[in-house]
Amino acid sequence: MTEPNTLSKRLRKLIDTVQHNERTLQRFQEIEVRLISVDDFAALLDTLVTDLARAFDLSVVTLWLDARVPYVGELLHGDSAPVADSRHLRGGHADERGLVLPGETGAPWLGQPTDLPPALRAEFFDPVDEPRSAAILPIESGAGVCAYLCLGSADAGRFTADMATDLLKRFAIFVSAGLVNVVHRQRLRRQGVTDALTALPNRRYFDARLREEIQRAARVAEPVACLFIDIDLFRQFNDTFGHDAGDRALMAVGSCIRRTVRQGETVARYGGEELVALVQGDTRRACIAAERVRAAVEALVIHDDRGAPLHLTVSIGVAARAIKQISTDTSVTANALIEAADRAMQLAKSSGRNRVEAHREDAGAVV
Ligand code: GH3
Ligand code: MG
Ligand code: MG
Repeated sequence: MTEPNTLSKRLRKLIDTVQHNERTLQRFQEIEVRLISVDDFAALLDTLVTDLARAFDLSVVTLWLDARVPYVGELLHGDSAPVADSRHLRGGHADERGLVLPGETGAPWLGQPTDLPPALRAEFFDPVDEPRSAAILPIESGAGVCAYLCLGSADAGRFTADMATDLLKRFAIFVSAGLVNVVHRQRLRRQGVTDALTALPNRRYFDARLREEIQRAARVAEPVACLFIDIDLFRQFNDTFGHDAGDRALMAVGSCIRRTVRQGETVARYGGEELVALVQGDTRRACIAAERVRAAVEALVIHDDRGAPLHLTVSIGVAARAIKQISTDTSVTANALIEAADRAMQLAKSSGRNRVEAHREDAGAVV
């Protein structure tokens, strides 16, 4: 018969284990809730590498993303992609890297990184902060494993192959849900600010960018320049060649302008056959950029339904403004700048079209 003393010790131990598991589950649950409610990828990554690491006293947490998975590419190039952080965010093409986790497919791997093949160790952890023991969780998406979450500890005995992995498996499901959630949110955000025909940002996006740019320009004491670009005689183009050819022409003009201005500069569809661009520099430099756009559109060849070449031109108004101080209402400055560029565009129309005109009145505020 078991000694009562031993029995109560065993019972105590069992209760301790249950309580410990309950506390662990609770800490996981707090992180899980955060994972599925974050708005963007940067916040998701922060929840893992900061909150999770702190809650479980981990020396390092890394997320390895498989670039073969389409939505992983969207995350890495999306609007909230974190700046390159190879300590926490790693990844690549799983096939090319020969990345296959030892053990049962889809199951977490626990042990000391020194037990992993050297190539795998280097994939999951930066050599400068390689942990003494680790848990590597495959994160499954519909098509298979899309990522690995790697939890590292400074304690060599913290993660061992014989440990129960139920809570880790459960957590991996939440990480997967969190990733899918941020991809969907990012897609919705993008749809809300993208014009469906030209795939350029829409007016809503442009207005917000312009306000940001005005604030930045005030800080760095640089001018903000806006080009207002309107396709010439586009009604006539539609009437002659058909609305479909008109749509194709709009798309072609949009991407032509996109290619012609610098990469970091914003080009948007403002409405109808009107496009806008935010470019760097004062009026003189903005006029040079505008002239490049005008000439590029003039040289553009579009094809009608039977493949015959068609041509278009644009009239461009330029307005640049030196921002001397940050106004409390940037939208007043933004509207004034767009209106000035629009007026200059109207002048280009009345002066014969296919030309660039700059806003010149109010010489004090315009550079
Ligand atoms: P102007 O040189 O004075 O700018 O003449 P315009 O004909 O371009 O100007 P107007 O404002 O009279 O006409 C604009 C035309 O642009 C009318 C409209 O049918 C056409 N348009 C606007 N949005 C689209 C679109 O998404 N697709 C097509 N195909 N046409 C469009
Ligand atoms: Mg117009
Ligand atoms: Mg027009």
